[in-house]
Amino acid sequence: MKSLEEFKGATKPVLGRLKKLGITNTFDLALHLPLRYVDETRITSIRDLRLGDHAQVEGVVIHAEAQYRPRKALVLQLEDASGLLHLRFLNFYPSQQAQFQPGVRLRVFGETRQGFFGMEMVHPQCRKVGEDEPLQQSLTPVYPTTAGMGQGSLRKLIHQAVLEVEPEDTLPSTLLERLHLPPFAEALQLLHHPTPEVPMSALEDREHPAWRRLAFDELLAQQLSMRKHYARRHEQEAPSLSTQNQLTAQLLASLPFQLTEAQKRVVAEISADLAQPHPMQRLLQGDVGSGKTVVAALAALQSIENGWQAALMAPTEILAEQHYQKLAAWLEPMGVQVVWLSGSQTKAARAPAMKACAEGTAQLAVGTHALFQEKVEFANLALAIVDEQHRFGVHQRLALRQKGGQPHQLMMSATPIPRTLSMSYYADLDVSVIDELPPGRTPIVTKLVADNRRDEVVMAVRNACMEGRQAYWVCPLIEESEALELQTAIDTHAMLSEALPELKVGLVHGRMKSAEKQAVMEAFSCNEIQLLVATTVIEVGVDVPNASLMIIEHAERFGLSQLHQLRGRVGRGAAKSVCILMYQKPLSQTARERLKIIYENSDGFEIARADLHLRGPGEFLGVRQSGVPMLKIADLERDADLLEAARAYADRLLAKCPEIAERHLQRWLGHAEEYVKV
Ligand code: ADP
Ligand code: MG
Repeated sequence: MKSLEEFKGATKPVLGRLKKLGITNTFDLALHLPLRYVDETRITSIRDLRLGDHAQVEGVVIHAEAQYRPRKALVLQLEDASGLLHLRFLNFYPSQQAQFQPGVRLRVFGETRQGFFGMEMVHPQCRKVGEDEPLQQSLTPVYPTTAGMGQGSLRKLIHQAVLEVEPEDTLPSTLLERLHLPPFAEALQLLHHPTPEVPMSALEDREHPAWRRLAFDELLAQQLSMRKHYARRHEQEAPSLSTQNQLTAQLLASLPFQLTEAQKRVVAEISADLAQPHPMQRLLQGDVGSGKTVVAALAALQSIENGWQAALMAPTEILAEQHYQKLAAWLEPMGVQVVWLSGSQTKAARAPAMKACAEGTAQLAVGTHALFQEKVEFANLALAIVDEQHRFGVHQRLALRQKGGQPHQLMMSATPIPRTLSMSYYADLDVSVIDELPPGRTPIVTKLVADNRRDEVVMAVRNACMEGRQAYWVCPLIEESEALELQTAIDTHAMLSEALPELKVGLVHGRMKSAEKQAVMEAFSCNEIQLLVATTVIEVGVDVPNASLMIIEHAERFGLSQLHQLRGRVGRGAAKSVCILMYQKPLSQTARERLKIIYENSDGFEIARADLHLRGPGEFLGVRQSGVPMLKIADLERDADLLEAARAYADRLLAKCPEIAERHLQRWLGHAEEYVKV
């Protein structure tokens, strides 16, 4: 295959523009598919034109006139055998005026609209033609492009690229017949040059079999790549941790509650994985408050009761600290050694904890990710649990390795991931879902309140706190400036302290020293502080059951999943909880839609689905940072059936016909980045 640089017209600036379009190799270019098409295969009689048609007509200029009122415009009258059409060019060039003299024959393509003199076209594409100029044989593709790259040159480049692609199919015809998909080369040819009888709407809606064929191929390549990595990791060795029902049974007996059915199911899935002599690679999803921590504790105990160490990592100090306290309270009475590792600890405090990990006396270590990844060594680590793993990019793998094998990995995500997404971008993991909340939770009432009613909101906070309840006040997210965000939090804290002298108002933000943060969180936990003003540092994990009122300022600036997470900080106790979303008027259309979704839904999976729909997978996953290549052709919603098929087929292919799998991967990924970085 020729490389891009060898193409005619592929100058340095052109290559730069292609790169902007996400095209870095010949295959990318051949797979750069049209956004829409224009039909230049036929000529419509002027008499048959309807308003709003996109059509091609041909005629002779009978009059050309530059007008200066109401705006400067060049107006042509074009006549064919059936009638007369006006063409209007605003800001025309003198060269155009010279070109379009009466008597010239033009073929024009444009959209008809109602003009002052009847039907007209504004800025149609025009071409001077001779009397019997042949028509285009196929629909003309219009490609997504970027500044400085005209359709004409893009078409020529793509044409060269398509010629370079091996026409041979990578997939067996039996499969293609079953899925009603055409051969690859035919699909590619058809999409770039569809014949006039192909319905344009099916092409533009991307539901034509040719589109579906390429979408399927792309999905299959993604599945093959990820499943291959899954299989490769699965071949490695890990300690087999059989169920002992000692410490785990003891913890279950000591809890003040019964596990929900969903928790029991995921505990069984995890427990079975741990008993395998291969590393577990499991993602545990559950809505906020669904009780993932106790599941993690049970997994850790299964490791510990087999004589191995476990580690639990969280993304923030606040969250890690909470986990530590909860787990220590549960496990230490059972004689389990739990150590706390934090970046903000003094060296003197950390040293014995590190030593205990290295010597094997610590059975469970809890701390922040960063710390683990850099410094800690373990004597015999068998299980690494990662909380809120979505914050670290989908495929970021832990630096936690040890001689003789990888530890089992349990990744927990509090942002529910819609099924299509977990089937595609998370295909290299097994997934467990807790799809049920513990009983006895009172649903959270959500209210939308405009900013100008702030005084009423302050009164509502006062009333709730005077009744012995507690509240969070979340300050606006200011993405452009962390400094400004911090200042807003400080100002809000001052404002609320003044307005509510009868309450103790606390402040917590990301720039505080971690000991200060801890002190504030502890004071809030034991109700010494009634109102906690916070930046989004409290987004994940914080669990203070007595807090039942949540105020979020400028809710329209937050992501949906983030709002759902924040809202999930209340509704954890028996008291009726309220979440007030304050917004600033006027709201844009999208902002209104987003707030409506949060207002109407309490189910995290529903919200995640809507969020995915509004933002697309890239934004949803935050993969911009993690660098996972995105699907370019397939759409998870539209092509959900193809995704199912690709998923089912990928494992079969890898097991039974690895050479076909290889060939397919080679075509799709041979020249590109891999879908998974290990
Ligand atoms: P998350 O899934 O958001 O991490 P947590 O593990 O923090 O949720 O659990 C939320 C709260 O629910 C905690 O206070 C926890 O002790 C409690 N909890 C967990 N499982 C149950 C259950 N089966 N019944 C009652 N309460 C539970
Ligand atoms: Mg949690």
